Amino acid sequence: MKFSTELLHGTSPEKITGSTTQPIYQTSAYYQETAEDMEKIFAGRKPGFVYTRVNNPTIANFERRMAALEHGIGAVAFSSGMSAVSMAIMNILETGDEIVSNSGLFGGTSAFFNELKSFGVNIKYVVENRPENFASFITEKTKLIYVETIGNPKLDVADIKSLAELAHSKSLPLFVDNTVTTPYLIKPLDFGADIVIHSTSKMINGGGNSIGGIVICGKNFKWNPVKFQKLNNFAKFGNMSYIVRLRSNMLMNFGGCAAPFNVFLTGIGLDTLGLRMQRACDNASKLAKFLSEKKDILVNYPGLENNLYHELAKTQFNNKFGTMFTIRLGSKENAFKFINSLKFALNVSNIGDARTLVIHPASTIYFHANEAEKINAGVTDDLVRVNVGLEDIADLISDFEQALQNRISY
Ligand SMILES: *Cc1c(COP(=O)(O)O)cnc(C)c1O
Repeated sequence: MKFSTELLHGTSPEKITGSTTQPIYQTSAYYQETAEDMEKIFAGRKPGFVYTRVNNPTIANFERRMAALEHGIGAVAFSSGMSAVSMAIMNILETGDEIVSNSGLFGGTSAFFNELKSFGVNIKYVVENRPENFASFITEKTKLIYVETIGNPKLDVADIKSLAELAHSKSLPLFVDNTVTTPYLIKPLDFGADIVIHSTSKMINGGGNSIGGIVICGKNFKWNPVKFQKLNNFAKFGNMSYIVRLRSNMLMNFGGCAAPFNVFLTGIGLDTLGLRMQRACDNASKLAKFLSEKKDILVNYPGLENNLYHELAKTQFNNKFGTMFTIRLGSKENAFKFINSLKFALNVSNIGDARTLVIHPASTIYFHANEAEKINAGVTDDLVRVNVGLEDIADLISDFEQALQNRISY
């Protein structure tokens, strides 16, 4: 089955009424006939719903769809992508652990990693994103390898297959944030990754109308009981132990649950993911190519043939290159003037919207970072991040063209 068919026919209509869209179960709690039933559900001996902080039929349906789409065995939805990122990691993390990560990270994730330092967790950043560079940072304290498929906004591409082989040779799991690429470009679990994370606020939702996140677990990783002690009480669940603990401890005790209505909207967005990604990737390729032919502008997009990661992206992402690129305009003044001159592209902090979005990362999503962190993340003062939407390409090109003419000459 091809992508969009799998996407649309992966789940059947709702059982009770045949409703083709999933009903919104806008409820906090669920009545049970008897105290015995309630006891069994709490003990996990009977399937059922108790409280929406832990599970909800609307959310469960979305979790099943996302797990199927990513070829995983289970998923837990969260209130935001950041909640998904933090809970996914803290589900196995202990004081003294180390994480080896690519450095071109989404600003929120890098800020969260800074937060972890106060809990005695050390993060080692690989500046040049190549598997052999990850190897040199791994110690006996390393708990996991963490990467984004395409770094946001560095646009560095992680070699998932090689990194999975490296991680497994050291008995470590590979965590992959697949937000920027979505399963349309890559299903990281098929390349050997173990845990996949999404901010569903972005392309999965597609309309910029709900914040959400999800963590999906693959079937192959062996959680060594000495190394991953937090999972020991869950050993009887076998390869589901990670995902069972994620729900019963992280979701239950930290409480970052998704809202049924948000998940309902995101599920509607998900139906058209294939169509939207196809259009947005196509638009991004054309717009990046157009800008790369202008003099004095540096364009960073894996789709351009001179890009460091072009060959890897081409094979790994099935000849697609994503919806995001960055341009360097020579100075902060130029970048601001350019952003202020755009008519269609909106100055907005998110990505993965139906509309084309731009932002100046250094003064916004990376404002928390020091100079060294900015350099490692590829954030310079003259950089503008562009996230291409679904508009007609001719209009985007003419909008960018007129905005370029308006920038200060240098
Ligand atoms: C946006 C984003 C997140 C965080 O998601 P929120 O839904 O905004 O909390 C994490 N990772 C990546 C790559 C993102 O783009």
